[in-house]
Amino acid sequence: MIPVEDALERLFALITPLGTEDIPLAEANGRVLRKALRATRNQPPFAASSMDGYAVCGPVTPKQQFHVVGEAAAGHAFEGVITPGQALRIFTGAPLPKGADRVLIQEDVTRTGDVITLNDTIETSRYIRPEGYDFTSDFSLTAPRRLIPSELSLIAAMNIASVTVVKRPDVAIISTGDELVMPGDTPRDDQIIASNVFALKALAEQEGARARILPIASDTEDSLRAALDLARDADLVITIGGASVGDHDLVGPVLDSLGAMRSFYKVAMRPGKPLMAGRLGQSVLLGLPGNPVSSIVCGYVFMLPALRALQGLPARPITSNVAKLTVDLPANGRRTHYMRATLGPQSTITPLPDQDSALLRTLTEAQALLIHPAHDGPRMAGEQMQYIPL
Ligand code: AMP
Ligand code: MG
Repeated sequence: MIPVEDALERLFALITPLGTEDIPLAEANGRVLRKALRATRNQPPFAASSMDGYAVCGPVTPKQQFHVVGEAAAGHAFEGVITPGQALRIFTGAPLPKGADRVLIQEDVTRTGDVITLNDTIETSRYIRPEGYDFTSDFSLTAPRRLIPSELSLIAAMNIASVTVVKRPDVAIISTGDELVMPGDTPRDDQIIASNVFALKALAEQEGARARILPIASDTEDSLRAALDLARDADLVITIGGASVGDHDLVGPVLDSLGAMRSFYKVAMRPGKPLMAGRLGQSVLLGLPGNPVSSIVCGYVFMLPALRALQGLPARPITSNVAKLTVDLPANGRRTHYMRATLGPQSTITPLPDQDSALLRTLTEAQALLIHPAHDGPRMAGEQMQYIPL
């Protein structure tokens, strides 16, 4: 049994980031940018008016009058020069004409024919967006990063139409067990529904993967081999269940018979102790425990960081936050406890009463996994603890 931190390190050691592909910017949301992007132009590329109004030059005083000499709209620059006493009708986004150094907003003037007269009060703002105000041509967007919608617009403004991203990891998920049927099937009285795969598939997809649910493997070596064979092109193979040391726990022996490399197979965590990782051919293997909550907790703690590392993002544990305990916790034993917990006002956290690893309903009530580290002493209400948001 190894500590969670060591298990994660060993898992990361099994992973090499996937290759890259060039894709159109419009397809790039959520993908991991692999190569930094450089702007090559200023934005805005010229000093621009930020309001509808009149561009003028020099200091202005209340009641001052200007002669309107022309117009500039977005996409239609005025080619002349504005001199003192002149004004150019200008609209938002239009280039500021030469000579002008401020824009009087239209609300501040009264226009009669080609003459504008300033009102009594004048705004101090100049309403000019200087050239390169947003970014200059030497700006670069660093990589790796998972692209978010606003970054797509930033990249577009940089005049970049396609980006180099890391390939999406292919994840194959295999349930094992004679007791399992898929939802919608008719279970015998001694059977249950394979539920874990759905949360794991969804989690993997949230992390940018393409995930496939493979047919359930029954508790025979041949059936498990057949399922693993279907998974052989996957970047990450997830098995669920069959990873303990019972007579029907065949994942370990079958992987051995296929020549898999096993890195570890027991982690000091609760829930989730029978967790294994290794490599089979080109694939990274993660053998998750069968209990629904255990497998999903391991999905957060191990699968998500593994998927990030596969996509070339920094190899590190899943992000945790801190919150204040509302109740006392007894000292913890040898295994890090990921307690299903609710979050309250003012950053407080309360573990749910029943922590059994088979309770999906409790998991759905939980908003967080409160991390009680291995060997951690008793904790008092009011102390700050780390948690993983769900
Ligand atoms: P195992 O590790 O195979 O002994 O499984 C531990 C427990 O998890 C057993 O009660 C299994 O029935 C249950 N289990 C295993 N796989 C799944 C699954 N895919 N969905 C729901 N429960 C499962
Ligand atoms: Mg089983």
